[in-house]
Amino acid sequence: MSDQHPVQTVFIANRGEIALRIIRASRRLGLRVVCGFSEADRGAPYLDLADDAICIGPAAAAKSYLNIPAVIQAAQLLGADLVHPGYGFLSENAAFAEAVANAGMVLIGPNADVMRRMGDKVEAKAAMIAAGVPCVPGPDSTLPKDPEAVKAIAEDIGYPVILKAAGGGGGRGMRIVRAPEDLAEASMLTAQEAARFFGNPDIYMEKFLQKPRHVEIQIIADAHGQAIWLGDRDCSMQRRHQKLIEEAPAPSIDRALIAEVGERCAASCREIGYVGAGTFEFLYEDGQFYFIEMNTRIQVEHPVTELVTGLDIVALQIDMARGAKLPVTQDQITTTGHAIECRINAEDPDTFAPSPGRVTALHMPGGPGVRVDTHMVAGAEVSAHYDSMIAKVITYGATRDEALARAQTALAELRIEGVKSNAPLHSALLDDPGFVAGGISIHHFEQWLSKKE
Ligand code: ADP
Repeated sequence: MSDQHPVQTVFIANRGEIALRIIRASRRLGLRVVCGFSEADRGAPYLDLADDAICIGPAAAAKSYLNIPAVIQAAQLLGADLVHPGYGFLSENAAFAEAVANAGMVLIGPNADVMRRMGDKVEAKAAMIAAGVPCVPGPDSTLPKDPEAVKAIAEDIGYPVILKAAGGGGGRGMRIVRAPEDLAEASMLTAQEAARFFGNPDIYMEKFLQKPRHVEIQIIADAHGQAIWLGDRDCSMQRRHQKLIEEAPAPSIDRALIAEVGERCAASCREIGYVGAGTFEFLYEDGQFYFIEMNTRIQVEHPVTELVTGLDIVALQIDMARGAKLPVTQDQITTTGHAIECRINAEDPDTFAPSPGRVTALHMPGGPGVRVDTHMVAGAEVSAHYDSMIAKVITYGATRDEALARAQTALAELRIEGVKSNAPLHSALLDDPGFVAGGISIHHFEQWLSKKE
């Protein structure tokens, strides 16, 4: 440490595996790293790996990980220069981004204005259309009040259509409409839900795609006007809009088309002044990409991109927030091989009921091409207060088949006792001929489940 360049401190406004992931990236960059934790997480082993940690409130997230004044105060007390919000919690909250800036710290992510703009799906869609990013057919504006005008828009798009809350998220505030006679009531209900859940009654309409895949593009941008895209991911294996398995690259999609869409995403980042890591989510159907939303944070599934590009996205994210220039150009980005991530949840593999409790024994897999991101150790507690994801088993192979084979071996090695896990579900899914063939739709899991029953 020199006097001219004191070591900066990163405060982690999050918990669990992503907190540990951020600790590791901060260490690699030689930074001091500190955490805020809730009473439920007191004594969690990953906190020992931080330089310091402080309690930010009770177990209920609303009183701790979502409590902006408590988080800001803790970050200041621990001498933070930078704040990493991780994913979930406050990671896409523009008021939080503003509070961090007002407290004289730097949020690791885009500024509050950009976050707010991308958080409004209608505004985001308008920005994407302007940047030439392909979107789902439908107007880039909120629906008018007049039911006849709404009907005309639906006729124009063609049924089925989907109504969505402009301020929506987390798979809520959406409704599919298949016939004109259902439109008026559906619009009313969706607007009411939008107002209740998101405090914004604005809704919009787009074409409902019947059997899309979920394909997304990872981008990273610096504060000097440079933005690049780091390949794509396929996250079509989902249960109730919750991703279960992700992979990179997306199987059997024309690489030239992906490159074209990737370039557009990077260009739109330059246009909106985006800084940091971000993800453009698309539905992909019949050879076409349709933008649905942008996530302005690190995503759970970022490791599959790290394995095929060889980059440390979280370290890059921190560097971008510190004002560094992108250390690589688009030409230098190559993706090699294939990576697959299985989200291991503490839940019953058949009923999906959460299974909190104490982990009595734990053995994580290893060997060539196997990476496990987890904050769990034997003796640690899986809290009922938070997300049930306890580990990510990520495998790499020169080919997709090799990555799949390694995932199966890794899952077979995995041993968790004391709580139930969905590892057996993953083993079954990785054996499913549809998944093995590649290119399943977002409805595949529910169809697989109904056949199994
Ligand atoms: P959220 O922010 O709530 O996650 P998204 O806009 O990302 O909302 O949509 C969530 C999911 O809803 C998508 O992953 C997809 O499964 C489905 N969905 C959204 N828009 C459409 C559409 N136009 N057609 C078909 N399915 C859609």
